[in-house]
Amino acid sequence: SAKTQNHDPLLFEALLDPSERAVLEDFRSALSGLDDTVLNRAWERAEFPFDLLQPLAATGQLGRHLHPGAEPSHLLRGMLTAELARKDASLATFAGVSGSLFGLSVRRFGSPAQQARILPAVASGELVGAFALTEPGSGSDIAGGMSTTARRDGDGWVINGTKRWIGNATWGHEAVVWAKEQGGDGRFLGFLVPTGTPGWSAEKIEGKYSLRSVQNAHITLNDVRVPDTARLPGVESFRQISEVLKFTRLEVGWTALGNAVGAFDAALAHAVNHHQFGRPLARFQLVQDLLVRAEVNITSTLGALVQAARLADRDELQEEHASLVKLMAASQARETVALCREVLGGNGIVLENKVMKHFMDAEAIYTFEGTHQINTLIVGRALTGHSAFA
Ligand code: FAD
Repeated sequence: SAKTQNHDPLLFEALLDPSERAVLEDFRSALSGLDDTVLNRAWERAEFPFDLLQPLAATGQLGRHLHPGAEPSHLLRGMLTAELARKDASLATFAGVSGSLFGLSVRRFGSPAQQARILPAVASGELVGAFALTEPGSGSDIAGGMSTTARRDGDGWVINGTKRWIGNATWGHEAVVWAKEQGGDGRFLGFLVPTGTPGWSAEKIEGKYSLRSVQNAHITLNDVRVPDTARLPGVESFRQISEVLKFTRLEVGWTALGNAVGAFDAALAHAVNHHQFGRPLARFQLVQDLLVRAEVNITSTLGALVQAARLADRDELQEEHASLVKLMAASQARETVALCREVLGGNGIVLENKVMKHFMDAEAIYTFEGTHQINTLIVGRALTGHSAFA
């Protein structure tokens, strides 16, 4: 009979210790309780599935890595992220934005008071965070092209600028807004800005056909005034922001993998259960070829992600390692979801059969946390010693 519980033919999960495997198993069973119909409807309507926020928070996934001293290994964390994306890549992305991009910024750069206020609230899902870095005029070149500014004014700061593509920012509670200090040393500063602050407006980006349940916003900051206590005191350079992006990039590699595995689940089940020419599709060699090519992608990506996670656990993960595995995971996933969609024939383009959702979700994952080209240039620079960015 077909193996449907997990797709780990080389037994990488055996690298987890028994208590970690128990966490992964518990997470799998909690996720099996989330209703696919609810997730599909939310995706179709481009609405966040609010009814699932508390169940998701109850699994611990929004903040288990935010407890200093008690964080899970990167290996476990990666496998949990993949499992969530296998269920629904929008949920994994939502968790990645609030828990990791936002949460890790606070964890790494926040004052003790900021951490005490925010980290438990993120973990419990009471506070949903956003990470506002990208701008309408600056995506891949944001390090050199940022135009949002922060000006010192009395005992606070005044922020002006626009941000684009900011996940969770239409209805979330607070965002880390990245801005360049006006005057002074031109530092890169991060501010905790509650989304209702006067001068803040966030417009949902409509017509987005990938990761539809995560809303992305176009944000305008017009003389947004915040106290100095809103500034993250531990950050003043883009290098430091890149340190957070290194880990979130690795995490997005796991998201890409899990999204592909979700498509594989649907393809394998369909191949076994659906009949043509009087036999299951799985009995045709050409169908097995589609499945095995998908499996090769999944397994090779998994192997690379496992090793990158182990490097991260030893504090040896370099920027180019994260870029290599992210670009590998995202581009192989893009091929995998197409192979899996093909196994379902016409059924493959119907939302209820799940592969089309994974197929479309693979596109946004391919682009964020460094496009294929930008990650290629990071790896190419490390290989050759020559920067080819501009
Ligand atoms: P561009 O930078 O304009 O790139 C367009 C194309 O040109 C790409 O193929 C790119 O690879 C290529 N290109 C650019 N420069 C070079 C070069 N030097 N050499 C070769 N090719 C090049 N940002 C946030 O801050 N917060 C978020 O929460 C967030 N969520 C997102 C969610 C989604 C669904 C999406 C799509 C994006 C999100 N982003 C977010 C933004 C994301 O990080 C950017 O989309 C990404 O960095 C690419 O920037 P861009 O879209 O402006 O594309």
